[in-house]
Amino acid sequence: MSLLKERRKTRQINVGSQPVGSDAPVSVQSMTNTQTQDVQATVNQILSLEKAGCEIVRAAVPDMEAAKALKKIKAQIHIPLIADIHFDWRLAIASAESGVDGLRINPGNIGTADKIKAVVDCAKAHKLPIRIGVNGGSLEKEIEKQYGVTARGMVESALANIRILEDLGFYDIKVSLKASDVARTVEAYRQLSPLTDVPLHVGVTEAGGLYAGITKSAIGIGMLLSEGIGDTIRVSLTRDPVEEIRTGFEILRALGLRQRGPELISCPTCGRCKINLFKIAEQVEKALLERSARIKVAIMGCVVNGPGEAKEADIGIAGGDGNGILFKKGKVIRKIDQAYLVDELIKEIDAMTLKAEEV
Ligand code: SF4
Repeated sequence: MSLLKERRKTRQINVGSQPVGSDAPVSVQSMTNTQTQDVQATVNQILSLEKAGCEIVRAAVPDMEAAKALKKIKAQIHIPLIADIHFDWRLAIASAESGVDGLRINPGNIGTADKIKAVVDCAKAHKLPIRIGVNGGSLEKEIEKQYGVTARGMVESALANIRILEDLGFYDIKVSLKASDVARTVEAYRQLSPLTDVPLHVGVTEAGGLYAGITKSAIGIGMLLSEGIGDTIRVSLTRDPVEEIRTGFEILRALGLRQRGPELISCPTCGRCKINLFKIAEQVEKALLERSARIKVAIMGCVVNGPGEAKEADIGIAGGDGNGILFKKGKVIRKIDQAYLVDELIKEIDAMTLKAEEV
């Protein structure tokens, strides 16, 4: 069963090797939170993000040292890198010269027409797309005066920024319209979507810590994607950005849009559970993060209901008293001592994956 309305048709742009928009899969991106000037720390974080499936990464460029560091960073990573710039056109040009794959800068904030033109000419010469990042908290003064901090104000800001670029013959644009509250964010994207075909980068900004951030992002991003709005997503969490990628893929999986790696289902436990299921689920979840097989794995608290309730899982375990059972598609395969349950399950998953790869 699908929750999705038909995806809105957008123009396609390329962020390095990653297509965004039109019929390209909805991509998942994140942003580093290291000091960009610290090349090694930033590279290490991006490599962790790559491992988690990140498809586009953005780094803040607060000064010239950071803009220059991007060159060394770019040489050691494998996914497209976007330079995130506020106001300073010289940082945009230096970042482009460092070999980044895209710029995030709002033309309306760059300053005089010749500075805007310099950035646009540079983006054209390097074939870089530009993301206009409208943030509800930092609207242009005139727009805020006229519309207040509203969805309409955000949309007007986006349209004004798009116009600046398109009047200069620049069309490799994507737009984000982020606010920290879900309702305003969703409303802004809904209003903008029918007015332009630029691909939309969707997210709820400053969403908060883990629980608030995941919940707000899942609702905001999920609502929009289910309406066919959104070409690339970023979950914002005050956490290790790897968690953003995991959450992003879980949102896409829950909507049936994309699947990456194994899917884990587990029961909440109840009075019938006689094993430490929380610990087991945590261990299995950690092990599955490093596996890419697309299988459904179930971790159930008891043998009475577990295998039956998790019939649709390809493989799973259910807890007994001091032991557990391994089951496949609801059929019990064997009994295993509790101490070896996780290891045996992982071995079986790897064996199934190998077999699937051989076919
Ligand atoms: Fe309770 Fe067993 Fe169902 Fe888990 S699988 S919720 S332990 S009945």
